[in-house]
Parts: sequence; structure tokens; C-alpha cells
Amino acid sequence: MNKPAITVSALPASTFPVEKYRADFPILQQQINGKPLVYLDNAATAQKPRVTIDTVVNYYQTSNANVHRGVHTLSERATSTYEAARESARRFINASSTSEIVFTRGTTEAINLVAQSWGRDNLSSGDEVLISHLEHHSNIVPWQFVCEQTGATLRVAPMNDHGELLLDELKKMIGAQTKFVAVGHISNALGTINPVKEIISAAHDAGALTLIDGAQAAPHCRIDVLDLDADFYAISGHKMFGPTGIGVLYGKEALLDAMPPWQGGGEMIKMVSFDKTVFNDLPHKYEAGTPNIAGAAGLGATIEYLEKIGMDAIAAYESELLAYATDKLSALAGLRIIGDAANKAAVISFIYGAIHPHDIGTIVDAEGVAIRTGHHCAMPVMEY
Ligand code: PMP
Repeated sequence: MNKPAITVSALPASTFPVEKYRADFPILQQQINGKPLVYLDNAATAQKPRVTIDTVVNYYQTSNANVHRGVHTLSERATSTYEAARESARRFINASSTSEIVFTRGTTEAINLVAQSWGRDNLSSGDEVLISHLEHHSNIVPWQFVCEQTGATLRVAPMNDHGELLLDELKKMIGAQTKFVAVGHISNALGTINPVKEIISAAHDAGALTLIDGAQAAPHCRIDVLDLDADFYAISGHKMFGPTGIGVLYGKEALLDAMPPWQGGGEMIKMVSFDKTVFNDLPHKYEAGTPNIAGAAGLGATIEYLEKIGMDAIAAYESELLAYATDKLSALAGLRIIGDAANKAAVISFIYGAIHPHDIGTIVDAEGVAIRTGHHCAMPVMEY
């Protein structure tokens, strides 16, 4: 194959100090296959700034203990670190109270928690759960499980050739039978930004509850769960430059209060006897077992890092990058960008002639460039 003529010209003039922030990421200071690493696989997982890594190391070196259990100094230090991270997460998504912030392993666990705890208690035959064609597997499979368990029906709102959700069609599918609407805020596969505020409002008009899969929104834009009026909102630490194994489920307090715990064990109880267990207060009722304390500490530090840069500044710079990359890629004969939604985040999917994606991935890896190839955990979108 002839080498494609990619000319790397200067990035758009911007006041965003990208080199300064790039220097904050130790992993980017290396060469891969003799070339400076260009990491473009952020939708799968993002790299971590030094402050996140240092916070995790420092936690283990100075504060490691179990939380909410001991009176000794380290236990109190671990607990206050863990709870301070919860406050940072609350601030980051503008929730009213830390009672509404449940730490989970990530978005996947958060969605499974809602599907199993709320879903098993509230769904039955004749009820419908509505998702969209654009969903990540994590916002499909948990709903398939609970529909199978309860006899409810899973319905799928369609998309168009631009990769946009058909909002009118989705609204038409919402009716008295709709009990729950679960959609992604931003598609990991196509970058489409969904009009989630409008979707939430349409669901509420019909008396349905909503969950927004915010895994791809958290790293790219400002999230305001109060403004959205989301009932549940799920994010993953590792996609927003934080550690793996930590994420957040936001839920409105009244809903979380009324739902049964999902998992049983330590931490989620107030009192246990062989006859009866009294569950703990929110949010601990949903955090059975020893949590990922170091991960929460790292997530808290990451949130502070992002807040210093500013989510609006990040979103603005990413939109410049998206325009630049779209322009450069479109100039390559035979390259087709998949997904050109009017409202799109900085994610680009493409096919290039008849070249197998794995070949492209391997060729660019030889140049030090990491891209994602494969089904992107969103097989229905890929099928479309
Ligand atoms: N939803 C979307 C849109 C995602 O991109 C991802 C991760 N690729 C998930 C859910 C699942 O997140 P996690 O693997 O962190 O649980």
C-alpha cells in the first residue's frame, strides 16, 4: 500500500495551553515504536495526569485504612479523603447533596444497580423500558436482564444516517406503558450529543423515570444533573482522566431512598441480627463491602484538576480539534467518516477504503498513534 499523504500542519491557533496540560500526563512523555506517543483512544479509557497518580500513591503511603470503621487516625484520614471525593463528585455534576452520590466501579455497575434495584421492584409485564439504537452495551444488556426477569419489554428508539437519535420517533414511543427511559448523553462510537434534557422532559411528561449514561459526557462537557432534571446519571472515573474501578451513580434522593439495596454485606448496614438487617443511610446503603478508597481519592483529585482547567474551556478546545481532524481526514481519498451529527463531541469513527480496521490500527501504531479498532462495545450501532 502506498503511504497516504497525511501532512501534519499546525493545529488551529488557540489560547488553550495544550502543551502545558500535555506535560501533566507522564505516560505521554514516552516514545512508542520510536515515535512520540499520540494517544487517541480516550473513549476507551483516558490517560491520567500526575496529580491523579500522585494522589493514589500518596493515599497508600500515608492514609491507607478502611473507611467508616475505625477511630484511629488513619481510618479517620481515609474516611475524610473518601467523603471529600464524594463532595467533589457532587460539585462536578451539580447534585444537591452527597446523599445522592453513590460510588460504584463505573458506569456499567451504576446502570446495573439501577436496573436491578429499581427495575426489579418496579417493572412488570406490560411495562416498557426505552433505550436508543446508539447505546453502549452497558446501557443495553442490564435492561435486557431486568426485562427478562420482570416480563417488561425493551424498546429501541431509532437513529438516522448521520448518527443522530430520531427525537420525534423517540417521543412517539413514549406512552403510559413507558416506565423508564435510559439513553447515553454522548455516543462513544459516533460522538453524537443527544438532546438529553428534552428526552428527560418527554419521559417525565409520561410519568417515566430516566437514566443518562454520562460515561462520555463527563470528560467532554459540563454536567448539571439539576438543570437536566435527570433521575439517575452514571459516570466512570477512568474516562475522565481518573482511576479505573471508580465511578459515580447519581440518583435523586427520594428515589434512592425508596429503592432496595442491590448488594448486601458490610458498610451498607446499620444493624444486623440473624432475624433482621437495618440498612444504612444514603448513600452507604448502596456501597456494600470495602469501597475503592484510593480510586475515590484519585477521582477527587482529577475533578479538581479538571475544574481548574474548566470544562467549558476543554469543550471549546475539543471542538476546534474536532473541526481540524474532520477537515484533515476528509481530505484523504477513500476515507469516510461515520457519524456527522449536527451536535457532536470530539470522537471520530471512520472507514478507509477496503482496509481492515485492525490493519489501520497496526499501521498507525507503528507511528506511535493509538486508535481504537473493532466494535467499540456498541455492536448495534456498528451493524447499522
Ligand atoms: N457507556 C458509554 C457511552 C461508554 O463509552 C462506556 C465505556 N466505553 C460505558 C458506558 C461503560 O463504562 P465502564 O466500562 O467504565 O463501566
